[in-house]
Amino acid sequence: MDKKIYERPLIIKQQSGLMNKFGSSTINAPVTEIDRVPVKDIVEKFGSPVFAFSERKIRNNQREMFRIFKTRYPKVQFAWSYKTNYMNAICSIFHQEGSWAEVVSEFEYEKARQLGVEGEHIIFNGPAKTAAGLERAIKERAKIHIDHFDELYLLIELTEKLNLTADVAIRVNMDVGIYPKWDRFGFNYENGEADQALKRIVLNDKLNLIGLHTHIGTYIMSTEPYKIAATKLVVLANKLKENHNITLDYIDMGGGLPSKNTLKGQYLEAEQILPSYEQYAEAITSPFFNLTMPPNEFPTLIIESGRALIDDAGFLISSVIANKRLSDGRRAVIIDAGVNLMFTSFWFKHRVAPGQNAGSFTENSSLYGPLCMNIDCIREEIVLPALKKGELVVIMNVGSYSVTQWMQFISMRPNIVLVTEEEEAVLIRANENLEYLTSLEVVPEKLKTFTLH
Ligand SMILES: *Cc1c(COP(=O)(O)O)cnc(C)c1O
Repeated sequence: MDKKIYERPLIIKQQSGLMNKFGSSTINAPVTEIDRVPVKDIVEKFGSPVFAFSERKIRNNQREMFRIFKTRYPKVQFAWSYKTNYMNAICSIFHQEGSWAEVVSEFEYEKARQLGVEGEHIIFNGPAKTAAGLERAIKERAKIHIDHFDELYLLIELTEKLNLTADVAIRVNMDVGIYPKWDRFGFNYENGEADQALKRIVLNDKLNLIGLHTHIGTYIMSTEPYKIAATKLVVLANKLKENHNITLDYIDMGGGLPSKNTLKGQYLEAEQILPSYEQYAEAITSPFFNLTMPPNEFPTLIIESGRALIDDAGFLISSVIANKRLSDGRRAVIIDAGVNLMFTSFWFKHRVAPGQNAGSFTENSSLYGPLCMNIDCIREEIVLPALKKGELVVIMNVGSYSVTQWMQFISMRPNIVLVTEEEEAVLIRANENLEYLTSLEVVPEKLKTFTLH
């Protein structure tokens, strides 16, 4: 039996208003293990802070989402959004589960190739592809998603020069009822730009039109925009069939499904207000049944879901450095992981749980990172139990965009481990050190010596 926790007596000002019509404020139960591996052991072995990803959770998320789409529309293919999390081990899990690679830069393209993904299984998105990047993609028969007319013209030039055909799709932007509109990527639907781009492609015998693409935004909180987007792409696909007898291989509906993270400014937890993934899948797939070609010619539905598949599989384990009181009497807790590792905490209220069993006394607190910067605040207000120096906290839902957007600033990037299905924590990216950091620096000769007095 665990020993009861001793809590020292404490006099505090009682704050009213903690209860409201939704009940008392929620406190997260301690998270002492990830897939039965104790977080304490992970920190002992890999230091603090440390990112931990659950292999089991990633695979389950992917399989569950695939099932949800597949049961509604049989021809479905997933493509893993590299920028959401491009750790090699993580991408490999998605590829083992059958996902293609969705990349938005040349280095991501190269990363996918190095992992063994063939060109034909790479979707090459992004507004800034270079001639060299496009040449490679043409030769390797990647699926090139054209973003704008200048790229289209460049592609026409390159296919002429190489005397090769290219497999292409266009990215379409449109009014889906979300404002400000995401109209900076791709060709606009309403003003006829998309139609014009498609015609130019159809008339070019070196461009092989294989698909249509849209990505309407990220963390889309309702299903209707997807329904509008799918409806519009289906109209384009029907027109291509009727006017040009073109049968598309696929319609790519992008990503943007929300994860279980709660946005700042949102009172209720994400789970309570967001539609289910089933509802999203219904909105995306139902317009496909307005396709007018024979069923055996129906295009594959491609889904490029990022955050929804990985967010809750990522944990950041961190240690308490100090407790202090702010000038207004509020408690502040300082931990060793800051916004440098959680860029996403600018937008989301990440859930934070104690990493060991905690007492029942809780207090409204501010949670700060270790940086010498006022902005280094992970949660302005969070109800936490008493935490001693050295005790652990586990920050949840940090699987997406954290380990791609993290900064090396004041402190260095820590270890990343994977908690495998075999319930073992293994290193998938080593912590950075000063040697790694300075290995890219060059000091001019005349700056190599100095004397201080
Ligand atoms: C970022 C991105 C995704 C993934 O977006 P999520 O919001 O993480 O699902 C998919 N497709 C494209 C083109 C993207 O740029």
